[in-house]
Amino acid sequence: MHEMARPEVSPLPVYNAGLSSDAVRTRYGVDRIARLASNENPFGASPAVARALADLAEHLSTYPDANCTALRQAIAPRVGAEPGRIVVGNGSEDILQMLCLALLSPGDRVLVQRPGFGLHEIFPKMMGAEVEALALTPALEFDLDAWCEALSRGPKIAMIANPSNPVGCMFDAAAFERLLAATPHGTLLVIDEAYYEYARLAPGFPDALAALRDRQRPWIVLRTFSKGWGLAGLRVGYGIASDAALVALLDRVRTPFNVNQAAQTAALAAWGDEAHMDHGARETVRLRASMIAGLNALALPGLRIAPSAANFLFIDLGRPNGPVNEALLARGIIAKPWKEAGYEHFLRVSVGLPADNERFVHALGEILGARPQGLSTGA
Ligand SMILES: *Cc1c(COP(=O)(O)O)cnc(C)c1O
Repeated sequence: MHEMARPEVSPLPVYNAGLSSDAVRTRYGVDRIARLASNENPFGASPAVARALADLAEHLSTYPDANCTALRQAIAPRVGAEPGRIVVGNGSEDILQMLCLALLSPGDRVLVQRPGFGLHEIFPKMMGAEVEALALTPALEFDLDAWCEALSRGPKIAMIANPSNPVGCMFDAAAFERLLAATPHGTLLVIDEAYYEYARLAPGFPDALAALRDRQRPWIVLRTFSKGWGLAGLRVGYGIASDAALVALLDRVRTPFNVNQAAQTAALAAWGDEAHMDHGARETVRLRASMIAGLNALALPGLRIAPSAANFLFIDLGRPNGPVNEALLARGIIAKPWKEAGYEHFLRVSVGLPADNERFVHALGEILGARPQGLSTGA
């Protein structure tokens, strides 16, 4: 089969989607699972979503609106862009793929962060593009100088997750201005704000839409209903583009009914209950601080937590993450051991409900703090 595939396809890494709760239940024989691997929203979607979906259940025989008209009209005024500049995807990952399908040819250069969101590399490589990945600083922050220098060399696309997944670090407003100033007009800036609903609460987080508005340059800001809005299971993301012409290009490469009816209905209902989203996001930011405090109180030597503006923490365990992850799984806790080269000592853990966060902190204390049993200290 490998000979039948395009040469770009076989070497592609497989996206690491992690273990399902059922797989962990079966494999480790635990029944209470703490799902802290996928940055899901433990508060769930607005109750308005369940009501809207119950009504929809009797109307499933017709095709969905191929243009997501109602949803784009609802999103438009709140993001300050006309509906023609909004694209909706089957998750924002769908929009990342559309961008690569529409814009990239073999040999085009794409700039990304590493460690980073796997699909920022996988989709460009699928098109035969060359990926340049920038490293973090030793303090686990974006390297602003390196970004400005690499941007000034004019990649076709720059994928910037702000804040970063998996690190949680962010470009603040001043740094964002420097990035914009450094970027030639021939580069499409893709600002992936999957964690916007959390990050907007962090002091200094840039208003990217305001900073980009009226710049005569191509850009797209991506957001999603998967995280702050609690709809990861239904797959809805959206993008706000510099120009309706970019959306028209994406329309040519997407599948016509890319966002199913349940997804459109649910996203519209969720969007109508901003207070629910806001409450969950604020709670999560508060719980993130308690989780950091809990981890710090363990006083584990070598443990380091990257500052985070998102709903997860990136933790340097100071030792290989594989055995620690196994010990967590055996206790029914699913986190994400990072697999990119140079980061095999790191674990990403989502901020969940208080009981799950406490279980995680307690378990990590047991696993990392445990002294070898039965050994005499030789007194
Ligand atoms: C979670 C995430 C997404 C997207 O998710 P969808 O569920 O496809 O909308 C996109 N980018 C980053 C950086 C993410 O962490």
